Amino acid sequence: MARRVAILGSTGSIGTSALDVMRHLGSDFELAGLAANTHWEALAAQVAEFHPRRVALSSGEHLASLIERVGTNGVAVACGPQAVADLAADGEVDTVLNAIVGASGLAPALAALRAGKTLCLANKECMVMAGELLNRAAAETGAAILPVDSEHSAIFQAMQAGRPAEVRRVWITASGGPFRTLPLEALDGVTPEQALQHPNWAMGPKITVDSATMMNKALEVIEAKWLFHLDVCQIRVLVHPQSIVHSLVEFRDGSTIAQLGAPDMRVPIQYALTYPERRTSPAPTADLAAIGRLDFSQPDLARFPALGLGFRAAQAGGTMGAVLNAANEVAVQAFLGRRLRFTDIPRLVADVMDRHQVADHPTLERINDTDRWAREEAEAWIMRS
Ligand code: MG
Repeated sequence: MARRVAILGSTGSIGTSALDVMRHLGSDFELAGLAANTHWEALAAQVAEFHPRRVALSSGEHLASLIERVGTNGVAVACGPQAVADLAADGEVDTVLNAIVGASGLAPALAALRAGKTLCLANKECMVMAGELLNRAAAETGAAILPVDSEHSAIFQAMQAGRPAEVRRVWITASGGPFRTLPLEALDGVTPEQALQHPNWAMGPKITVDSATMMNKALEVIEAKWLFHLDVCQIRVLVHPQSIVHSLVEFRDGSTIAQLGAPDMRVPIQYALTYPERRTSPAPTADLAAIGRLDFSQPDLARFPALGLGFRAAQAGGTMGAVLNAANEVAVQAFLGRRLRFTDIPRLVADVMDRHQVADHPTLERINDTDRWAREEAEAWIMRS
C-alpha cells in the first residue's frame, strides 16, 4: 500500500521542495493532505496538481477564495489552527511532514505523534520549545520522529554507523552565514536585505535571518539534544563555510562519520520520507574535486552571541527553550520590520532569558504560557529600545 503523506507548510521553502520530492517518488507515495498558512493561491495550484483528499489553511481570511478556486469535488477544505492539527492526526495519513515556520508548528507536531504518525520534522522550533513533551508523546504511541533539518539528518544518517551508547560527540556544522567575515563594527548597521542573502542555502526569511545571527545553530543545538537524547556537553558546533559536510558523529573508538552532499534540502526531506530506504533523487551530488577544499574552524562566540544563548538554554532545559524561541521570533520580525537593529536580536533574547524562572518538565499549557510571556517581554524590550 502507498505511504500516505501530509505536508504542513506546503507553500514555504521546505514545503515546495517536499512536493518536488513527491513528484519524483512515484506511486508508492501518495499526497493525502496539504496545509498552508496564508498563501491560498499557491495552495490552490498544489491542490490542482496533487489532488489531496484534505486541505487546511491556518488563517481563515482566504477560505472562501480557496474553496471557490479548488471547488469542493473530493477535497475537504477547512481553516484555522485546529484544522491543521486535525489534518496531522487524520486516520488516513501515515506520515506527517511538518514544515511550518515557528511556534505554530508545535500543536500539529504533538497531534501527529499522539495519533502515532511518523513525524518528519523540519519545524525545529517545536523541538526547541517542547522537546521533552514531544519525545514523551512519541514514546507513548511508538511514533518515530525523523529529522529533516539538514544537520540533524546528517547526524541521523551518521548514527547508523554505530549504537547510541557508542557516540562520544556530535559536531553540528554551520556555514557562518553572510557575516562570518564582516568587520565586527559593521554588524550594527546590517540591513534586512543584507541578512537575507545566505551564501549557500535558499530558504525562507525567518531561518535566513536566524542563519545570519547564528541563532539557527543555537536552535539546532537544542533540537539535537532532544532528537538524539544527548547531554549538552556532547554537542559541538563547527564552522564549515562550504556547507558540504552537513554534520558529523564522533564515536568512542575515535572514528568520526560525516554525511556529505550538495546543499539541497531535497536530500534530507527524501531520506526522512523513504527511511530506512534510499531512493534515487533529482538532487545533484557534491563534486568534491571541483569544490577542491573543505574548511573548518571554531565558531566565534563574540561575533555570534546567539550561539552561546543556545547552549545556555539547552543546559537550563525546562521552559528556557520556549523563552529563547519566542523572544527570537519577535526579535526577527522586528528586525525585518526595521524596528530593531541586527545586533539587538541576541541582546533582546539574552535579556528575556535573564528574566525567566525556569520550570522543569513543563506541560503544554505551561509551555504556551511561557511562549506568551516571552513574546510580551520581547515586545516591551523593543518599545524601550
Ligand atoms: Mg539546518
